[in-house]
Amino acid sequence: MMRTWIPAFAGMTLALSAAAQEVAVDVGHYAAEPGVISASGVPEFEFNLALASEVKAELEKHQIDVRLIGERGDYAVLHHRTRDARGADLFVSIHHDSVQERLLPQADRFAGFSLFISRQNPKQERSLACASAIGAKLRGAGFTPSRYHADPVLGESRPFADETNGVHYYDNLAVARTAAMASVLVEAGVIVNREEEQRMRDPQVRRRIAAAVAGGVRECLAREP
Ligand SMILES: [Zn+2]
Repeated sequence: MMRTWIPAFAGMTLALSAAAQEVAVDVGHYAAEPGVISASGVPEFEFNLALASEVKAELEKHQIDVRLIGERGDYAVLHHRTRDARGADLFVSIHHDSVQERLLPQADRFAGFSLFISRQNPKQERSLACASAIGAKLRGAGFTPSRYHADPVLGESRPFADETNGVHYYDNLAVARTAAMASVLVEAGVIVNREEEQRMRDPQVRRRIAAAVAGGVRECLAREP
């Protein structure tokens, strides 16, 4: 009896784990250091929390399990985020962007989304596939890559991993470097730009961004790892 029962049970767990994929959705920054301050004075953490919650809802609609990381604003140590994501299939960190301090007076010139991956992540190929898929979905929804992070003067010379879809290499990025699973950091938009901040605060725009991010995640997770 044992012999027939054990393989059946093992098969069942396999089927279950294949069906339920899990994504760690990380809310960038924390209460004591809430990130960029937007053009109108709102801390980035609030934008990140609102968008991450929306991404969670979109993924759950499609039967993907979500582990929110940092939603209470209490994660000061970056590698604790990836540590607490262990077991997830993908780590997606949600952020909103700024520009270099000396360019803040011209911040309204800068707009768009950016995606970052690390070549030090153990699942570099999947990280790139997921970032490209997210970028493609965002473009399909009418959003544009910001591009300036690749620029040596306007940005930080972060080379493109996929220029069309706004994906850059940022090898030393803690939440990508320390993750055991594939990892992508999303800068949804530039909130030091007055117009773009208003767009990012619009619930309908937020929903469209979240749907695009979730759509890209679903697409890359559906492929072989
Ligand atoms: Zn940030």
